[in-house]
Amino acid sequence: MLFAHDTARALHAAATLVNTGQNGFDVLADIAALDRWIGEEGWTGARRGDQRELDEVRALRRRLRRLWALDEAGVAAEVNEMLRAANALPQLVAHDGWPFHLHATPQGAPLVDRMAVEAAMALVDVVRQGELSRLQVCRATDCADVLVDLSKNRSRLYCSTSCTNRMNVAAYRSRRAGTPAEPRPSPDAPPPAAPRGAPAGGGRNARCAIRQ
Ligand SMILES: [Zn+2]
Ligand SMILES: [Zn+2]
Repeated sequence: MLFAHDTARALHAAATLVNTGQNGFDVLADIAALDRWIGEEGWTGARRGDQRELDEVRALRRRLRRLWALDEAGVAAEVNEMLRAANALPQLVAHDGWPFHLHATPQGAPLVDRMAVEAAMALVDVVRQGELSRLQVCRATDCADVLVDLSKNRSRLYCSTSCTNRMNVAAYRSRRAGTPAEPRPSPDAPPPAAPRGAPAGGGRNARCAIRQ
């Protein structure tokens, strides 16, 4: 296993948040949309439910997106700043039947702080293990979504099953038409192993119930 389970999950959560604002479409268009998304993604804990909270989450989304473009020193500086700004204090906690795991924000911390610290703590692992190249952008045409490639051989090209299928269909059509294939098609590659395509409420429910 490349990363601890909670780190992998937090990385996917960060990518999922970034991807709510990609490709010219904002999934978090208003407070009601944020409420819905928070429920779907399994975030729990204190909420303000106001416009400022929505603005903060959108700002964090932009900030997290930059992590996919920065070099290692840049990511380290940004992660340190995120941890400092949220007063992160790592503590081992066992609760609600969950074995000991890491909480780094106090119960009741603002949603955006909990989101930022969870992502930052996961990035700490990524940088420490020299695995920053796992942060990738989808190679599919017309898709700017980010992804975290946790595959053994770093073979993941696309953000989602839908992009994989779309590109495979395009490659198939190109071959039939006798024209050069789309760049980097992967007709034989298995679908991405990431849980992004998993049904909502499935594997994602296996996260710490308090999420802080
Ligand atoms: Zn994509
Ligand atoms: Zn917990």
